[in-house]
Amino acid sequence: MPAAAKLLRAIIMGAPGSGKGTISSRIVQDFAMKHLSSGDLLRKQIHDKTAYGLTAKMYIERGDLVPDQVMVRMIMYELTSIHNSSWLLDGFPRTVEQAKALLRDQPIDIVLNLRVPFDVIIDRIKGRWTHPQSGRIYHTEFNPPKEPGVDDVTGEPLMQRDDDKEETVKARLEHYRRLTHPVLQFFRNKGMVEEFTGNYSNEIWPLVHQSLSTQLKPLQYTRYE
Ligand code: ATP
Ligand code: MG
Repeated sequence: MPAAAKLLRAIIMGAPGSGKGTISSRIVQDFAMKHLSSGDLLRKQIHDKTAYGLTAKMYIERGDLVPDQVMVRMIMYELTSIHNSSWLLDGFPRTVEQAKALLRDQPIDIVLNLRVPFDVIIDRIKGRWTHPQSGRIYHTEFNPPKEPGVDDVTGEPLMQRDDDKEETVKARLEHYRRLTHPVLQFFRNKGMVEEFTGNYSNEIWPLVHQSLSTQLKPLQYTRYE
């Protein structure tokens, strides 16, 4: 019998538009980790009209954070149900209080911080145009429509979502920086943060893969054994 596999407990952090979703899904695929996203969990609780969901809804609709006490209890409960697996936490902790509560309860092995220059993120998001009727997405640089401002299939005009406009994106990024900085600093002071810098997910992913491979065996390799 092989020795019991080591479990990895990781946190992923990154600004909106940093490719956190892409990297997270590759991690959970390649390393058989459970993905626990606080935003997804909250949306599910709201949909299921649980007590957590009803409380959280009021805050989220106002654009506020859900209170630490509620978040901590909800996340800790979810973590107990996956304590036999490796996991990747996403969206939590968002405050130093949440970070402290988490560390009191769980041994965290690593905090992965995705660093994509804000200029790059802004360029990426502000070039995005959609055809609202079909959901088709274009990008002025990476995936331009045949004719500027017009949907390829229907010939109808393309629109830009309000939250994809440059000013809005800048505000969201600043908000993220202000809010997350203390949490990152808290983990950095404990020497827990590994930084991954790049302009594209395809640049960042190999670095993340390599780093996690030193602690966990990627699934791919077991297939070839
Ligand atoms: P992203 O652009 O990364 O998706 P988001 O602002 O949409 O960011 P989600 O993670 O999808 O954030 O969460 C949606 C909302 O749920 C947040 O705006 C916040 O109100 C609440 N929320 C999520 N995680 C937390 C947390 N750890 N603490 C407090 N509130 C949270
Ligand atoms: Mg979201």
